[in-house]
Amino acid sequence: MTTKQWWQFGVLCGLALLQAEASRKIEKVRRLITNAPHVNMTSVWVFAGVLVLPHSLAGLLVILVYGHLWLRIQRKMGTRPVHRVVFSTSMIMLSAYAAAGTYVAGKTLQQTYGWSGTMTTPVVIAVATLVFLIVNNVLVAIAASLHGRPSHIMISWSDFALEIATLCLGALAALALDSVPYLIVLILPPLLVLHRAVLVKQLEELAITDQKTGLLNATAWHETARNELSRAARQNSSFGVLMVDLDYFKRVNDTYGHLAGDEVLKAIARMLKDELRDYDAPGRFGGEEFAVLIPDSKAEDVVTTAERLRKRVTELEVLAQTENGETLIKNLSASIGVAIYPSSGTTLEQLMLTADSAVYTAKSNGRNQVVTLST
Ligand code: GH3
Ligand code: MG
Ligand code: MG
Repeated sequence: MTTKQWWQFGVLCGLALLQAEASRKIEKVRRLITNAPHVNMTSVWVFAGVLVLPHSLAGLLVILVYGHLWLRIQRKMGTRPVHRVVFSTSMIMLSAYAAAGTYVAGKTLQQTYGWSGTMTTPVVIAVATLVFLIVNNVLVAIAASLHGRPSHIMISWSDFALEIATLCLGALAALALDSVPYLIVLILPPLLVLHRAVLVKQLEELAITDQKTGLLNATAWHETARNELSRAARQNSSFGVLMVDLDYFKRVNDTYGHLAGDEVLKAIARMLKDELRDYDAPGRFGGEEFAVLIPDSKAEDVVTTAERLRKRVTELEVLAQTENGETLIKNLSASIGVAIYPSSGTTLEQLMLTADSAVYTAKSNGRNQVVTLST
């Protein structure tokens, strides 16, 4: 190890700790609300370390950064047991080593074939970034599936973009550290702002989603429906509102327990997302009531969709944990009330009232059916 490398290691550690301390509050809130905790800002320093430090020091940097994260944030929140912290640190370490290996291989190729550094170094860095991203996400996906947490497997495009952004900053930090070291402090302000922006985005998402099912919550659904109403009024088009109420849901809770009931609600939400078009908007109105907005559609098409959803509910089989072990819950059904703009009402309130009365009619006619009402 040269003095320069020790010095670079010191700078990276110092900045990593400074950034972590400066954004400790943001990170705490973010971890309270997010379900993708593996996406975080520390990869900036880790990735810079991968590019400039010898492997042993890069590994030490990962341990210090994650040790600090645990000591100052996770330990106090008590949401992550130590073995999981060790596990995620190891995953980052493996991703870092895969990226470091790629970078060294790229550099070796450059020397062997006498490629120009200006032309090929950006390519080598880009490939190392890609390797870091892929290895990390594949490991996270494997870990999530081993833990039976499929919702953690898929990360969203925005999380992916964030990871790329942090790695880009990491690459810039490495380049600065290698050529004009003091420029590295310029990384800190954009990083802190990025971190805050991520929190704001996550809070926005939290404000519009129903936590149990991930569908729109009632407020967000109303907002979406109001927008569709004014669009339909302007363009003289029609759209549908469905109210979906599960039949005898109380019995599911009474028979299998409340947690199993929750699994059923989640399965219904997944089914709605799968069956509907991207621009249809399913929401949960609390309890076992769902509302679906079917924009820009004719009455027949809305009714066909409602009928398809009703059938899919009857076909659902939900595997849930109950007191007696795993149980397959089936024979579910739902009553669906349909209202069409403008024949069932010209304001959102009228449409909702009509759809609600249609559900009521479906229930009294024997449940498991679709009823359409006009005013
Ligand atoms: P109906 O066919 O008339 O709709 O009968 P129902 O039992 O579905 O309707 P009711 O309104 O009597 O009961 C709704 C039940 O939904 C009662 C409540 O325990 C349950 N429920 C409401 N919210 C939740 C939830 O978030 N999770 C679970 N597991 N159950 C819930
Ligand atoms: Mg109900
Ligand atoms: Mg019900």
